[in-house]
Amino acid sequence: MCGPGRNVGVTENGERGTGKMVWNYKEKYQNDPEFKKKERLRQKIYNESEQGRAVKLAHNMSYGNSEHGFITNCIAAAFKPSSCRKRGLWPAITKDEIWKELEKHRLDMKNKYPESDGNLCIYCENSWTYKRSIGTGKRVKHTTNFSIDRIDNNKTYQVGNLGFCCSGCNDKKHHATLELMKNVLRVAKEKELI
Ligand SMILES: [Zn+2]
Repeated sequence: MCGPGRNVGVTENGERGTGKMVWNYKEKYQNDPEFKKKERLRQKIYNESEQGRAVKLAHNMSYGNSEHGFITNCIAAAFKPSSCRKRGLWPAITKDEIWKELEKHRLDMKNKYPESDGNLCIYCENSWTYKRSIGTGKRVKHTTNFSIDRIDNNKTYQVGNLGFCCSGCNDKKHHATLELMKNVLRVAKEKELI
């Protein structure tokens, strides 16, 4: 993918398609406030146009549907200030550390189920998915989708308290504390239900 026609601007040696581009867009954008203002306006008009909106939607859909994009969004949600305020707990872990914990989880699950790819819910041990409903006009809840649970709800997102799971299991667990679950298990055992 090189040769004439690829870079259509004039390059440092005066020829088309060879050499480095002389005009560096990023540098100009960062250093020329007038240019930046003009470009931002141009972007805004484009983003609001039908074409711009369609391109953005297509991008969001393919990004959100990809595994990496979906997980990135999930991790970002844990750090959302409004959610932190609601939870009353701020993550005590970095985004990078969450990715590392996820890698560990996959390895653990792969050891347990060597024929799997390790992308299994920690609770029900079924495969999780990355389905999105953007653009369909409806908000569909996919219970098989990837989600991150705080195993102990009284603790924040931190190493040792992350449960990579399906959102179905996460939803069912919801606000149940470990204390409550222990009590339910005790009663279930007493009643010989399990
Ligand atoms: Zn599950």
